[in-house]
Amino acid sequence: MTTTMLRPVTTLSGVGPALAEHLARLGVTQVSDLLFHLPLRYEDRTQIRAIGSLSLGEKAVIEGEIQTTAVVYRGRRMMLVSLADGTGQITLRFFRFSGYQQKALERGVRLRCFGEVRRVSGGMEFVHPEYRVLRPETDGQTEDHLTAVYPTTEGLQQGRLRMLTGKALDELVASEPPELLPHQLTQDMDFPSLRDALLFVHRPPPGTDTHQLMLCRHPAQQRLSFEELLAHHLSLRRLRENVRQEQALPLARDGTLLQRFIASLPFSLTGAQQRTLGEIADDLSRDNPMMRLLQGDVGSGKTVVAAGAALCAADAGYQTAIMAPTELLAEQHLATFKNWFDAIGLEVAWLSGRLKVAQRRAALAAIAGGAPIVIGTHALFQESVEFSRLALVIIDEQHRFGVHQRLALREKGAAGAHVPHQLVMTATPIPRTLAMTAYADLDTSVIDEKPPGRLPVETVALPATRRAEVVQRVAQACRDGRQVYWVCPLIEESDLLEAEAAEETASKLTEALSEFQVELVHGRVKPDKRDRIMQAFKNGKIDLLVATTVIEVGVDVPNASLMIIENAERMGLAQLHQLRGRVGRGTDSSSCVMLYKPGLSQMARERLGVLRRTDDGFEVASKDLQLRGAGELLGTRQTGLIEMKVADLVRDAHLIEGVQRTAITLLSDHPAVVKKLIRRWVGDAARQYGKV
Ligand code: ADP
Ligand code: MG
Repeated sequence: MTTTMLRPVTTLSGVGPALAEHLARLGVTQVSDLLFHLPLRYEDRTQIRAIGSLSLGEKAVIEGEIQTTAVVYRGRRMMLVSLADGTGQITLRFFRFSGYQQKALERGVRLRCFGEVRRVSGGMEFVHPEYRVLRPETDGQTEDHLTAVYPTTEGLQQGRLRMLTGKALDELVASEPPELLPHQLTQDMDFPSLRDALLFVHRPPPGTDTHQLMLCRHPAQQRLSFEELLAHHLSLRRLRENVRQEQALPLARDGTLLQRFIASLPFSLTGAQQRTLGEIADDLSRDNPMMRLLQGDVGSGKTVVAAGAALCAADAGYQTAIMAPTELLAEQHLATFKNWFDAIGLEVAWLSGRLKVAQRRAALAAIAGGAPIVIGTHALFQESVEFSRLALVIIDEQHRFGVHQRLALREKGAAGAHVPHQLVMTATPIPRTLAMTAYADLDTSVIDEKPPGRLPVETVALPATRRAEVVQRVAQACRDGRQVYWVCPLIEESDLLEAEAAEETASKLTEALSEFQVELVHGRVKPDKRDRIMQAFKNGKIDLLVATTVIEVGVDVPNASLMIIENAERMGLAQLHQLRGRVGRGTDSSSCVMLYKPGLSQMARERLGVLRRTDDGFEVASKDLQLRGAGELLGTRQTGLIEMKVADLVRDAHLIEGVQRTAITLLSDHPAVVKKLIRRWVGDAARQYGKV
């Protein structure tokens, strides 16, 4: 962007605080953001159509003269306007209208309307069309390009948004932004200039194949994605180079606490755990900060590796902060670490957003006083938290945190000349090309082996019509002393509806399984209560835990060996795999029953098929990518580790190789361009955290 467009959107005339707030909800805070708020779809308003030629279901622009206007009651009050153009007649139907509108739409007035053609008994109609009164002097031209329809938010009208975007586009035309991509590349890839690309996606010329546009395959879109991916890649590489030059506290490689810990474990580490812990300890023994990603499938045993890393710090007399994405997970880590570290006499401090005032004060004092291990949630990076001798930050289940949160925590821990080492753990196996862009600032260690004795989770898919049978199976499992999860349907639109549905399921199951202890957790159960229930489940006091997908991540109850997932067809592969990872954690054989609503789509059928066939997270992930690449972008957000305006790491994966090649050239030959690219696309965040 030209730098002048990196100014607040409120500098556009007509944008007051209320409108600005709406825009902010769409991620639009600067004028340039409007350009990157891309259309959802397009409408063709380039031609005025004869009313007589319209067909059912099409969207069209028409012009005509009002014949009659009447307010009538047909079950409810409505205004009917009859419009004719000499070739035919159509009715405009309004359920909401003002007295002013009613007066303006009188017989003889000429209108231009845009709407979708519906058929009614008396002929054709538009319901609530967009319209404009035509006056002889303004009798305007039609649009000379396709009309963009933008994602919007309640209270912000499409027309308003379109108008503002139009202003931004006008500025763009007036001051062409400089070309930052190498000439050779734009030529080889047939990329238009940035200005032309943006104009094209907002205002495609008449006759453009909008289907190709919606698939984001047009060179204009590819250019935008490419440039954005490149900017992010560069910013992460920069970050990594900068970090490499910072100072960190070198930690102990093989101290006594670590040795005692490993000796005290009831199991021995797997080869993969030993190797990854070795890689981490190597990094930690250096005096520049580690930035390492620990990848391992659900149940592969990442936590014990994290504990080992923390002990490298403790052995050297320094502090470690461990951050989990949810209260539930943080508390689980607390229990696990306490259990392990009590045995070697190491204090564990705890900070959550839910501590009472006095507890919180005590926790803050313990942290400031140098407690060797600090566990918590986001609460850890509030201002009031003062670490003492913090040398290592561990973040669990990274995909729940954004890159910026991660960086913010690192900054926060920076004490004087030293920056803490950082270990990020994730169960989301990310294919290599994606990892290179999403995690270009991190080195990677992979736990590619599960603890011995784990049996694959036997997985079946059954139609919901066989629910009664499944309930019997649950009863039998409980009778055998096993514990069971019952996962309720995901309702993305509303966690209230989701909670209600879960309550209903729970009450039915309580009735059907009256001899067993059934409990329910969902997003709206108060945290204290939820923790009590989870603890009771862990202690074996609950037979059947009915839950929403809140239990998706990290929950570890080895005795649970049966999971039922309802409406599995609504969930993405990665999510189902995560959920299923809650069972199969002990040495008993486990099973997972995926219930689905009959009438599966082809895509859903394939997804369930993948899970039945394989238990391997990497295989699931690559299949997931393949299927989503085929069009079903379910849950893409999960891979959106970095917030992108245009690009999508899954959809645009094919660009990544070229991005890397270009990045190398730019870094060595054109450092000034690197800076500009990062500023154009990554902006403030990079300046704040990446020190570019
Ligand atoms: P995840 O990688 O999903 O975070 P966890 O760290 O929660 O996995 O480990 C899953 C379970 O496996 C835990 O109960 C843990 O105690 C156990 N575990 C970890 N490592 C081993 C091992 N080497 N041998 C046996 N059990 C192990
Ligand atoms: Mg875990």
